[in-house]
Amino acid sequence: MHSPRDIPPVFKPHVVKCPTCGLDSIYAASNPYRPFCREACKLIDLGAWASESFSVPAPDADPLSEFDAPKD
Ligand SMILES: [Zn+2]
Repeated sequence: MHSPRDIPPVFKPHVVKCPTCGLDSIYAASNPYRPFCREACKLIDLGAWASESFSVPAPDADPLSEFDAPKD
């Protein structure tokens, strides 16, 4: 009789807390988003990091220069 839950402890994945949502995240090669639990959490964290580190105002591509450029 084989139970699918009868997994030896050595095969237990390392579980960490997802830095974004705090849920359990499998820290193993099977989880490409580690230490996050899923892709969304990774993207959210990267976005937060980017907005904090690069708080540069988006340069509005100078609309006047386009309309003012004398063409003829
Ligand atoms: Zn998460």
